[in-house]
Amino acid sequence: MSDRAAALLDWYGRHRRDAPWRDTSDPWRILVSEVMSQQTQVSRVIPKWRAFLERFPAPGDCAAAPRSEVLAMWSGLGYNSRAIRLQEAAQLIDEEGWPTSSKALQALPGVGPYTAAAVACFAFGEQVPAIDTNLRRVLSRWAGLPLDRGALEEYASTALPEGFAEDWNQAVMDLAASICSPREPSCAICPVAEWCADPTVYEPPRPQGRFEGSTREARGAVIRVLTAGPATADEIAEREGIESARIAAALEVLEAERLVTHAAVGWRILD
Ligand code: SF4
Repeated sequence: MSDRAAALLDWYGRHRRDAPWRDTSDPWRILVSEVMSQQTQVSRVIPKWRAFLERFPAPGDCAAAPRSEVLAMWSGLGYNSRAIRLQEAAQLIDEEGWPTSSKALQALPGVGPYTAAAVACFAFGEQVPAIDTNLRRVLSRWAGLPLDRGALEEYASTALPEGFAEDWNQAVMDLAASICSPREPSCAICPVAEWCADPTVYEPPRPQGRFEGSTREARGAVIRVLTAGPATADEIAEREGIESARIAAALEVLEAERLVTHAAVGWRILD
């Protein structure tokens, strides 16, 4: 193991952040945590994750549930298409069993390379780096140049200490979250500073657009109302205080995505 990896793991042993899914190797619990954590803060995910798994403790429970119920359990996390893809993944897992390699896991709906690597590593012990934007930022700084695609994969695979992939992946995540932040990293207290080539490397992500007035807001409103039962566009607009035209536009997009459909009167969730 390299000195840098040893220093990082030593730091991780003393500063590890707690999260309920870090104490399990159940692939379903890990998959749900990873899908929920995409673009959502951990503090908001934890209570939702607990409630979701209480209702759907195994993929089969989620697979068999009406879609409206899955969406209702997802409410508050946003990006509802993630819930739909998760249920589709649960259906496939229920029918065919778990794929156990990072490559095979990518065949599941909604599971990209990062999520597949995270599940393969944390649940099945595969020795792979889980590459997301945080890991990319940290490793680019170690390398002293922006790493992308093949170069990033190669650098990460070399940096990862064989046999310690789970702790190493978690350690890089924690370092990225607490010390090696996008802007003004706290290099003075960084456990791997002596092996870091250039802390100025990395382009900070563009700030997210305003939520208010956004398509995301209108889509969220539609799903929120329809998980309680069918409603017309005007009813949704009135209940949510959003202009009818924006609700109508959101309904059109959600219909194209096969999330909602016409009901006898108005709209409903497509189960
Ligand atoms: S020295 Fe600074 S830039 Fe480099 S890994 Fe540590 S916190 Fe990040």
